[in-house]
Amino acid sequence: MTIIADSLQAIQANIHAALTAAGRKDNVQLLAVSKAQSADKLRNAYLAGQRAFGENYVQEAINKQQQLSDLNIEWHFIGPIQSNKTQLIAQHFDWVHSVDRLKIAERLSNARSPSLPPLNVCIQINSSEEATKSGASLAETIALANAINTMPNLILRGLMAIPAPANDYATQCAQFKIVHTAFKNLQQQGFAIDTLSIGMSEDYVAAIHEGATIVRIGSALFGARSIPA
Ligand SMILES: *Cc1c(COP(=O)(O)O)cnc(C)c1O
Repeated sequence: MTIIADSLQAIQANIHAALTAAGRKDNVQLLAVSKAQSADKLRNAYLAGQRAFGENYVQEAINKQQQLSDLNIEWHFIGPIQSNKTQLIAQHFDWVHSVDRLKIAERLSNARSPSLPPLNVCIQINSSEEATKSGASLAETIALANAINTMPNLILRGLMAIPAPANDYATQCAQFKIVHTAFKNLQQQGFAIDTLSIGMSEDYVAAIHEGATIVRIGSALFGARSIPA
């Protein structure tokens, strides 16, 4: 309990220091990435004040949601999406960060109950254009954003990216800058987006320097992952 509470406090302090260093007056939301962490750890983080949790595997997430149904958690899906999982994702999450193609967006919108608030979605972009990584190309992103804006049960909130891991701060910043530029381009084209989901345990300070509004942090908060993925 105390360990997670201490980590949470230390990360929040780092986030505030990074905002100040970047001359930013706005805020960054900490998304606690809880994949492969036990429901007890999520509960401890919740008791320490954390409300938004990110999960990568649908069934693992639903199991935890059942164990934590007494808590008012905001659930974010951040993992790769197989089309046969869209129904469950649309029913069990408030946010999806990893929408990377039209078919997935259509299926999520069709599966989202109109009686629920629209599903908040980010387009995952492949900013480094690596053939092996998931994410829409920069070129595909505008068409996908336009399509999502026509879907009744989705609301486009912004972009998400996972750049290739880099050890040095300058490289981290350079990679995030590409994503921030794509984000600002969409805004300039009239898309009403407010969310830039970039930065993980090893690079969130650089991401905040480059305009992150959500950082997704797992191991720095919870320690090494334990449930086999
Ligand atoms: C696992 C994961 C994270 C968190 O990674 P850490 O390095 O543990 O902070 C963030 N984003 C996504 C998409 C992930 O899969």
